[in-house]
Amino acid sequence: MSKRRHGASGVARSGARRPAGYGSAGSSLPDSPPLAAPLQDFPPVERWDSWTEYDPAAWPRRVAREYMLVPTVCFNCESACGLTAFVDKETFEIRKLEGNPYNPGSRGRNCAKGPATINQIHDPERILYPLRRKPGTPRGGGEWERVSWDHVLDTFAQRMHEAFAARRPNDVLYFVGRPGEDGFAERFLETWGADGHNSHTNVCSSGGRTGYGIWSGTDRPSPDYANAKFILLCSAHLESGHYFNPHAQRIVEGQQRGAKVAVMDPRLSNTAARADYWLPTWPGTEAAPLLAIASILLERDWFDREFVQRWVNWRTYLKHRAPSAEQTFANFVTELRREYAPYTPEFAEAESGVPAATIDQVAREIAAAGHAFSSHIWRAAAAGNLHGWQVTRAMHLLNVLTGCIGRPGGVQPNAWNKFIPEPWRKPPAIGVWNELNWPREYPLAHNEMSPLWPHLLHDGRGTQPVLFTRVLNPIWTYPDGYSWLRALRDEDKVGLHGALTPTWSETAWWADYVLPMGLAPERHDTHSYETHSGRWLGFRQPVARVAMERLGRSVEFTYEANPGEVWEEGEFWIEVSWRADPDGSLGIRQFYESPYRPGEKIKLEEYYRWMFENSVPGLPEKAAAEGLTPLEYMRRYGAVEIARDEYHQHEAEVEAPAGAVEVRGQERTVTKVAFDGTHMPLTGRPDTIAAEVDGAPRRGFNTPSRKLELYSETMEEWGWPEFATPVYARSHVHHSLIDHERGEYVLLPTFRLPTMIHSRSANAKYLTELAHTHPLLVCPQDAERIGLETGGLARVETEIGWFVIKALVTEGIRPGVVAASHHMGRWRLAQHTGGERWASALVDMSESADTVDFRRVQGVAPFESGDRSSMRVWWSDAGVHQNITFPVHPDPVSGMHCWHQKVRVRPALPGDRYADIHVDFAKARAVYHKWLSLTRPASGDLRRPIWLFRPLKPRFDAYALPQDERTQRARAAHAAGFASAFELHREVDWNPEEVWGPLAQAGSRAEPSARPGAALAGPGQR
Ligand code: SF4
Repeated sequence: MSKRRHGASGVARSGARRPAGYGSAGSSLPDSPPLAAPLQDFPPVERWDSWTEYDPAAWPRRVAREYMLVPTVCFNCESACGLTAFVDKETFEIRKLEGNPYNPGSRGRNCAKGPATINQIHDPERILYPLRRKPGTPRGGGEWERVSWDHVLDTFAQRMHEAFAARRPNDVLYFVGRPGEDGFAERFLETWGADGHNSHTNVCSSGGRTGYGIWSGTDRPSPDYANAKFILLCSAHLESGHYFNPHAQRIVEGQQRGAKVAVMDPRLSNTAARADYWLPTWPGTEAAPLLAIASILLERDWFDREFVQRWVNWRTYLKHRAPSAEQTFANFVTELRREYAPYTPEFAEAESGVPAATIDQVAREIAAAGHAFSSHIWRAAAAGNLHGWQVTRAMHLLNVLTGCIGRPGGVQPNAWNKFIPEPWRKPPAIGVWNELNWPREYPLAHNEMSPLWPHLLHDGRGTQPVLFTRVLNPIWTYPDGYSWLRALRDEDKVGLHGALTPTWSETAWWADYVLPMGLAPERHDTHSYETHSGRWLGFRQPVARVAMERLGRSVEFTYEANPGEVWEEGEFWIEVSWRADPDGSLGIRQFYESPYRPGEKIKLEEYYRWMFENSVPGLPEKAAAEGLTPLEYMRRYGAVEIARDEYHQHEAEVEAPAGAVEVRGQERTVTKVAFDGTHMPLTGRPDTIAAEVDGAPRRGFNTPSRKLELYSETMEEWGWPEFATPVYARSHVHHSLIDHERGEYVLLPTFRLPTMIHSRSANAKYLTELAHTHPLLVCPQDAERIGLETGGLARVETEIGWFVIKALVTEGIRPGVVAASHHMGRWRLAQHTGGERWASALVDMSESADTVDFRRVQGVAPFESGDRSSMRVWWSDAGVHQNITFPVHPDPVSGMHCWHQKVRVRPALPGDRYADIHVDFAKARAVYHKWLSLTRPASGDLRRPIWLFRPLKPRFDAYALPQDERTQRARAAHAAGFASAFELHREVDWNPEEVWGPLAQAGSRAEPSARPGAALAGPGQR
């Protein structure tokens, strides 16, 4: 992360506007003698149209180059940090990227991945033209030919037209990896009327989101780290991988003001190493110490009674937990204490391994911080474990008890700090349901069941006639990539596959078309994230195009300004949708007409122009104050701040229309008498608009009660009564299931180095040079037991295969757990194409009926290219592709893939070679069916609760569950009750050679036990 120098703030010497809090703009290099120029943070904005710097490549000669500085937004993670591109005014080439001081989230700072965008732009391995699999060759055959964009657009538009005209909109699927934008994709899917959105979220963050969603209706918190006094992070993943820069810089600010930090993580991450407390929990036990802290806060009366009384659904809690008790807050507190009393620090120590005294001390720190207690959990424990989403609920219970929600230094729902502008002419909500995305077994899944998608195809539950994968590489990033490979190459399952991607990937190799898409400075998007207490909107833009247009050159499509024929996606979707409805008879074309030129096709610039003129509060006024149009303002600054320091929003009074509402229920919700089901809110009930608190209708939260739901009637009504409140439930990798004497360990694969991006680090040479190996971390006593030493080869056996990796013996991982980061192990099947040679190994892939083996033929090596750096590659390691050896483990509630693996670790066997991989497809299928048997499918009238978040939310009528034979079966199973998921795991004597034993038969279903939740482990058992 680049640092800013502290100095004078306010108005630059020239008097031009620049953001508060930044150092002196000083003078610019051309006006100053060399070496005597003062350091400066950023070129002043009034000189962005003409900025001169010496060309470092010409050194020692002083060759001045003139640049136009154009802001954009980084696309290498979801933080939406601002970047400023230095566009050479002579060649329109982007020469470097630095921070954008006008982006309120990143404030001019970036992590290493932001500036490394320059590598991705100039990568000699880059795909510059659309490619088609040569007719007559098989998928994955590696024979490609260049085609025109017109051919691509017509081919896909024709298939789409056929599907839409036949009223089969779900024949077309948009499967997204990295979204990097807000709202554009959902809009074009709505114009098609297709439930065609599938995404990577269930291999990423659904566990975290589900826990927060059940509590508050919004899927993550926005922590106010800079003002916090105590910060608790469950793992460091959020702050050292995703969201790295905006959150990390505010944690550091908080620390500089005296905040203490605790990190709960089995691995000593960079963040844990700089924390005041490192709590190395056994993976999956994190809820135990969190609930022990909650118990301490309750027992010692260290909680905010007023907040809990006003904003928690305690009446509902009491109704269920003590139905005969009088409905008083005092009785509620008594019951709550009773529920959490068994979670003692000693119990938590026995489960997690964290000393009871440390848990007590952290509880004291949290209590002392009070309203200035901030915390977060994103992937990590929530993404690693069966019931991981309950870790999130346990953590948020601490926020609720301290009353830090909506307060300075605390946390607030992310929706308060994110802004998505409305587009021109909003299409109606979709009216169909896609069971390949939302299978009925997972009615509470936070997002689409994407890890199961290939298995559902293998089950024969559907086919996919038209598939767009977009910045998605599931063969490599997902678990069980071989099941993906087999599905994607099967033309009976997947009809026409276009891979929209800025780079080669293992998945693109198996597509029919590879369609090169723009990087951060080559495309338009709007993007916003919760980075602090404020709202802002970032504007990604194609910087060379903007520079050309500013200098008077006319550009019709962005690809004319981009390298080769790299399209920007927005234009692609407009074009393909326009062509799919050539005469407008399908009703699609109307949504692609210009708001300014009736009947004519919209230009992307007009799409954003209309949005900025009509949907962004305060922007027209800010622009006018500078003599700019709203679009010109966004092109100039790349972002706009909409609000800051917005706390206490739940308290806001809502104007309820007289007569149209009534106050209902236990929690006194202000509810519309009737609601319109054609436009459902993304989250929250369509009819419930406020909570009556202190006699006034207040905004509250997006839950059915508009309160924070300590007791979730949704969980109870949808078959999970044992999880109605935050409880500790044992994970599928609990220590009772691990036998070290048999060589068993827990593999932690859910972290990555902060310089890496999943698939796209590979085309950033600086990032690859920084990090190009990922050893298996093993603690010294485990290494001795296994017989491993640093550099030695280990064979790691999973349920469906194994991989061979180098060991690193370190104290930085807790005993019993081994870990390997997930950003390495890229491979390609051809020497000169199909993969980034900076980071991928050439492999040989050999298959039998059910198995596949990969063996490295050659590691990374210098290669000839237009970039002279490529002959200077000095590293050879490409890492090991571990994810492909993991089966799918979908949590039966959240749908989150539970990444942690029970593995057997032993020294490599004779004949094993580094990076060898073996996978058994039949075993992968068996494990999938085993986890499917843990579900409690929808069995009532609806497919899922209507108030829960769902991307691309359908109309109310689409929620109707078909009353077919499968629904009848689900009803019978619900009536009989279910065994707990943990107990079903314990029944199985895990053995890599006999995967899942008797439950391995396809489609098997466990016998339900007498009563729901009967086998819930730990003191949460009721
Ligand atoms: S934190 Fe994310 S958005 Fe920000 S610079 Fe790094 S990769 Fe880019």
